[in-house]
Amino acid sequence: MAKVFCIANQKGGVGKTTTAVNLAAGLAMSNYRVLLIDLDPQGNATMGSGIEKHSIEFSVYQVLVGLCSAKQAIVSAENAGFDIIPANRELAGAEVELVEFEGRELKLRQAVDEVCGSYDFVLIDCPPALSLLTLNALCCAHGVVIPMQCEYYALEGLSDLVNTIRQVCKNLNPNLTIIGLLRVMFDPRMTLSQQVSEQLEKHFADKVFKTIIPRNVRLAEAPSYGVPGVLFDKRSKGAQAYLSFATEMAGRVGLAAAAA
Ligand code: ATP
Ligand code: MG
Repeated sequence: MAKVFCIANQKGGVGKTTTAVNLAAGLAMSNYRVLLIDLDPQGNATMGSGIEKHSIEFSVYQVLVGLCSAKQAIVSAENAGFDIIPANRELAGAEVELVEFEGRELKLRQAVDEVCGSYDFVLIDCPPALSLLTLNALCCAHGVVIPMQCEYYALEGLSDLVNTIRQVCKNLNPNLTIIGLLRVMFDPRMTLSQQVSEQLEKHFADKVFKTIIPRNVRLAEAPSYGVPGVLFDKRSKGAQAYLSFATEMAGRVGLAAAAA
């Protein structure tokens, strides 16, 4: 039965999708069976996994509103080595349509329950908002991975996210935990990066992943080729860091020995 993790941070452009796609590919390279769910109408995880978001038959939108099963919506991202439930702009409508549904925050959980027997990891790439879509992800996950840039404002939004996770844990999903904070787009030359990084370690201690993802242009180039950074240029510093992170993540969630 798969362990389910969402990659969440309501701030935009902090590296959620890059983390989701590269973690998925890194775990797949270690022989784990991975399903990535793109839960963002921008469809960046879909495109970054090599799937053309405009020509998909079913997306996570149809799954959430009950127009198809999760199984029907799964496509193989062959270049990337994992399966994906893709997304595109249609998903923006789900937010409005789901308001009418009873148990609207549990739609994704029902979908994931249907397919999680076939995977070791299910990863969910969240949109940049504490919206009903993100709530659906939090309700079906065992844990949350929070990518953060080490900037002054990064800490500001964190308490809102942590409070939301606490609320979900209390009322809707008692299993939910924060797996860890991941420092991304790190620039060691910046004193501020160092300071914020130290502050995170001080406040969150073991909840901060040891791996630090550097700012690396190869990671930013990879999506335009429809290939995860860890496969696009495996030797780049960014790819190496995401591969280390995948190993750390598997160890942290106790699946390290499970893969062949
Ligand atoms: P959104 O909130 O819009 O969904 P996001 O949090 O998913 O954004 P990404 O799309 O992963 O963030 O990253 C934002 C931009 O930064 C992208 O152009 C991406 O290619 C680039 N980027 C992400 N991580 C790195 C990195 N480590 N080094 C260099 N560029 C990066
Ligand atoms: Mg994104």
